[in-house]
Amino acid sequence: MILINGFAQEPRDLRDAMVAAASSVVDSHHYILGPAVERFEGRWAAASGARHAVGVANGMDALEIGLRALGIGPGDEVITTPMTAFATVLAVLRAGATPVLADIDPGTALLSPASVERCIGPRTRAVLLVHLYGQARDLAGWAALCSRHGIDLLEDCAQSHLAVEHGVAAGTVGRFGGYSFYPTKNLGALGDAGALVTDDDDLAATARMLRNYGQSTRYEHPLVGLNSRLDEMQAAILDVRLDWLAAFTERRRAVAARYDAEIMQPAVRLLVPPVEPSAHARHLYVVCTEHREDLARHLADSGVQTLIHYPVPVHHQPPCRDIARDPEGLAAADAHARTCLSLPCHPQLSDDDVDTVIRAVNAFRG
Ligand SMILES: *Cc1c(COP(=O)(O)O)cnc(C)c1O
Repeated sequence: MILINGFAQEPRDLRDAMVAAASSVVDSHHYILGPAVERFEGRWAAASGARHAVGVANGMDALEIGLRALGIGPGDEVITTPMTAFATVLAVLRAGATPVLADIDPGTALLSPASVERCIGPRTRAVLLVHLYGQARDLAGWAALCSRHGIDLLEDCAQSHLAVEHGVAAGTVGRFGGYSFYPTKNLGALGDAGALVTDDDDLAATARMLRNYGQSTRYEHPLVGLNSRLDEMQAAILDVRLDWLAAFTERRRAVAARYDAEIMQPAVRLLVPPVEPSAHARHLYVVCTEHREDLARHLADSGVQTLIHYPVPVHHQPPCRDIARDPEGLAAADAHARTCLSLPCHPQLSDDDVDTVIRAVNAFRG
């Protein structure tokens, strides 16, 4: 079976380097906020193009901490997309702010600027842009839209590691970028981990306090913080895996480019390609089809696993049914949720695997 994730096929060298890194943390006797975290934070700031990276416990906390560090909370509205991991909206709720959902562009499944404009009101503080599936698109346009309305642009980069559009890295155009290093993400730990990146010195300093009980120096707590520290073990693993990230991302792009060029299936619509290959981290390769169940079954029969990202948009989740939204509705998000299907697109796929996936999709008779 060609799986959505390729952990079992990862290079032996990578596994051995992770075991060596874990072993050195065991022997260091330093397990929380130590040299491995500091080293990884420095390397991740450089890799993601930001001045600061603050390691936290997971991607959702990165967003919550960023929101709280900016003073976005009760009474403030944050506009975001219903077509995302639930954690995006949960972070806004956890910060005490009010999420408002705008619709997506059906061609890319990314937030629609026209719909966002309809959602802006007197209490809007920010747009939380999600680089869904790994794609950074029209970053300059989003920055201009937000600055025109005097609101902040924030970035959910949980799927967009190393995406760069027209020389601008995802996570560096907004006030902060929130990264997840959940194991299946393009850069993943062997457990939960995340980071907030920002060019803002004050924001980084506040985020560092918030992640550690709101502590400034030992036993001094000027803020009501949380416990959301990145631990040494995960930081050491991430440091190893970061050495492979650029090559793995290039492989994802090569696989996706073959799907873009070679999938020819009238029952399947491909998403609009990125403006340039570097603008897409190819975390997920998603197609749309009115025959999703049949296509998924046909692919499974051909030895190809598929998943759905995401079958239930945020506004249909029980805690969010009354959530504020675009007055014109969220029809494009609903249509996408009904028709989207993710094909295997990971760095461990062989050329033969890619052939198999393409042949299987093209052989489908809807
Ligand atoms: C994975 C993900 C998150 C949450 O990250 P965690 O590390 O699981 O908390 C948030 N937003 C998006 C778009 C994600 O894909």
